[in-house]
Amino acid sequence: MKRESYEYTPLEVYHAIRANRPDIAYDGFLNKVYFDEDEHIAHIHVSTRYEMEDYTPPAEGEEREPIKPVDELDIINANGDYVYRDAFTLRTRNHTAPTRKLNPFTGLDISFPVGEGILDFCYTDFTKEQDDIMLFGALFSHRKKKQEVVRNSEEVYKVELEHMEDTLTTLGDYLYQSVYSSIFPPYIYEYTKETIPAFIRYITEVRKEMMRRIEFVFDDEFYPDELSKFLPCERYSLYADVYDTPLSFNRDERFTMLGNYSARQLKRGNIDPAEIVQRLTSHVPTDEKSPLEQALGLEAGRVQIFYHVPRFMAAEYSVSTIHDMLELEFTKMLEYDIRLHKCKICGRYFIIKGNYVSDFCNRVREGNTRTCQQIGAQRKYDERLKTDEAVALFRKYYKRYYARTKVNQIKPDKFREWNYKACEMRDRCQDGEITPQEFENWLYGSFKNRKKKE
Ligand SMILES: [Zn+2]
Repeated sequence: MKRESYEYTPLEVYHAIRANRPDIAYDGFLNKVYFDEDEHIAHIHVSTRYEMEDYTPPAEGEEREPIKPVDELDIINANGDYVYRDAFTLRTRNHTAPTRKLNPFTGLDISFPVGEGILDFCYTDFTKEQDDIMLFGALFSHRKKKQEVVRNSEEVYKVELEHMEDTLTTLGDYLYQSVYSSIFPPYIYEYTKETIPAFIRYITEVRKEMMRRIEFVFDDEFYPDELSKFLPCERYSLYADVYDTPLSFNRDERFTMLGNYSARQLKRGNIDPAEIVQRLTSHVPTDEKSPLEQALGLEAGRVQIFYHVPRFMAAEYSVSTIHDMLELEFTKMLEYDIRLHKCKICGRYFIIKGNYVSDFCNRVREGNTRTCQQIGAQRKYDERLKTDEAVALFRKYYKRYYARTKVNQIKPDKFREWNYKACEMRDRCQDGEITPQEFENWLYGSFKNRKKKE
């Protein structure tokens, strides 16, 4: 089969961009994702595979700058986008902190309202750090490829560790701009001339497609006359048909029973926190075997302990790439019927809460100290003041000149002409084209002031 003039369909291109390559794979980390079905919150536990308790840098005469341990807060405070600071809650687990992290986000529990992950990724300007990673990539592509011989799992891990460290050193500043690119880094096996450009293309294309898709599916102002009667999921099937993108995704769901109480469990079997406390505290150890324990030959108290120390059902998703995470979150947005609205100030989407659609989001834009909502409220207040002032001036002079038509100082047709112009001027004043002072000067000078003494 010759493929010389083979024409790729949009669907083939879609898959090709997301496919792993021999030099770079997009699934560097394997993270666990859970959803709170009631609150529409996503929880991600970031893999700890590349955290080390004890680390010795590679020897054999190779000189390497030791990387200083980075705190996740350093990154958030240094160059985190505002979207991510506001919407994401980051927590460390209660274990001893590792001595060294290759990626500052490893081991974190990250929670956010479903939809914010996609928005954070879509609103990140990845072009900022693009030139730097291109330079690194070009530099590294001249490096001789090492012959890697591994004899056991420990050595495999060591090699992987080195590759991941390399990857994060090269791409770090680029990746740490958004949450998903930080916690789903790629894994570079080898630097060819095509490696970094392929990764940039991957990020750019995945982001572009998702932007286009969320507008089509969730934007309440996108062709509302035609689309408002559709459910988001129905709009999605139309979108997939129009743009030739996949209609189905794999969601790798795993059912599990969790021992700790968290917001991750599924609804059925969800026990009230007060009842959990009651069950835990009412446990009395016993030496007497219950009938079931006798029948099954279990030790005394084994059955009761499962009642007093409850476990909870949970659905756990394993996700390893940015695009799979975006798809998983996207499908959850469809399930939860989430809608987006564009903020009238910053022009970015925000999640509609309840039935009331606000004009402004409650985020703080870069370079601002106030949220769009606060800025918007101030603007509306200023506008009302301006409107009120223009209306008051108009009324004052209307009354004055109308009275003069009654005593024939102003002819009725002249007054009508003036009234028409005055309304126009009032509107211009309300729109801020002219100041109230200019408006008043014009009103005052419209007719000769005959009462003025000579
Ligand atoms: Zn805004």
